[in-house]
Amino acid sequence: MVSHRKQTVRDVDVKDKRVLVRVDFNVPIQDGDVADDTRIRAALPTIRYLLDRGAKIILMSHLGRPTPEDREQFKMDPVARRLEELLGRPVRKVNAVVGPEVEEAVAHMAPGDVLLLENTRFEPGEKKNDPELARRLAALADIYVNDAFGSAHRAHASTAGVKQVRPDLPAVAGFLMERELEMLGRVLGSPQRPFVVVLGGAKIADKIGVLRRLLQTADTILIGGGMANTFLKAQGLEVGRSLVDEEALDLARRFLEQAGDKIVLPVDAVVADRFAPDAEAQVVAVERVPPEGMILDIGPRTVQNFADVLSSARTVFWNGPMGVFEFPRFAEGTFAIARVLAGLEGAVTVVGGGDSAAAVRQAGLADRMTHVSTGGGASLEFLEGKELPGVAVLDDGSA
Ligand code: ADP
Ligand code: MG
Repeated sequence: MVSHRKQTVRDVDVKDKRVLVRVDFNVPIQDGDVADDTRIRAALPTIRYLLDRGAKIILMSHLGRPTPEDREQFKMDPVARRLEELLGRPVRKVNAVVGPEVEEAVAHMAPGDVLLLENTRFEPGEKKNDPELARRLAALADIYVNDAFGSAHRAHASTAGVKQVRPDLPAVAGFLMERELEMLGRVLGSPQRPFVVVLGGAKIADKIGVLRRLLQTADTILIGGGMANTFLKAQGLEVGRSLVDEEALDLARRFLEQAGDKIVLPVDAVVADRFAPDAEAQVVAVERVPPEGMILDIGPRTVQNFADVLSSARTVFWNGPMGVFEFPRFAEGTFAIARVLAGLEGAVTVVGGGDSAAAVRQAGLADRMTHVSTGGGASLEFLEGKELPGVAVLDDGSA
């Protein structure tokens, strides 16, 4: 197994140094303000640590998917304002990612200053991992810190390029990155058994790699959400107009053959007449889904079955909601599973995936999990066993 021990901010002397920190400030913006500051808060321990040790902190992040025509709503100014409130000290925001304005601002920084660069995706070289952009960013820094786990699966200039073009630049993990690697590493490495995986959600094609990998290590895999429909159909059941990944049917069949009774599927479902918050809903056995129906949640007997399996688990990894939890009428399965996990004593419970994390927060239970990953795609790729580019570039720690 690959060792995930990487050097962290604890391993470097940051006093008076220009520390370039890649953070994940990709937050939702509404009416010019930060609508959810979870990700900003998640970076605070690293920022405060560096502040306390007299570093000059240069922060950078991408925000959304700006286009050359549409930039205004993707500027980092609202993020700077919120960070200032959270830190209780000034944050200087510049209007460029690289260039004279940035160099000038960095040249005048004193220890304890915090500077936030403009949205890295305003630079076309960011997503292309353009070495020239990476060099200009690297020139701002004495030390590079990556605390953006959520972006670590992408090889962009700010996540991987900076270190790739300047191999001599010390490159270390922030505390959020460290915790993500440690907690997800536990799930991937040698989880305490029984190890139970709960999989759901909609992006089935994205999750096949994880499923394949976890089939090798998990004791039981509970499948709900849109994912389950594909498996039910693969078994020859009628799933009506439910979300199904037709291309994955064969694979689902093979997984079922291989896995034997490792995979547990729903026995009942909440079926709607259409995809809408006020759709008519009825609970039916999975053998009785009407041809015009749509499965939008797992049913109560399924919740009970899943809860029984989970009750003895020592490690749980959950990715993907059990239903369309955005509609209250179809949120019960997801929230019930969240409550079961929250109630497990002495078990390590790890939640990964953007929507799964949102569901757990919406249920008010995020604090009751051992770890809620800030990375969606990144957590899945990590659990597939892939090396993330933004992690690979970090200096190795002693084992
Ligand atoms: P995550 O972000 O946690 O990895 P996904 O993005 O794969 O999860 O899936 C989340 C989405 O799956 C949610 O928007 C939810 O509404 C949808 N979903 C869950 N169950 C179903 C279902 N039975 N039919 C359609 N969509 C579903
Ligand atoms: Mg999602």
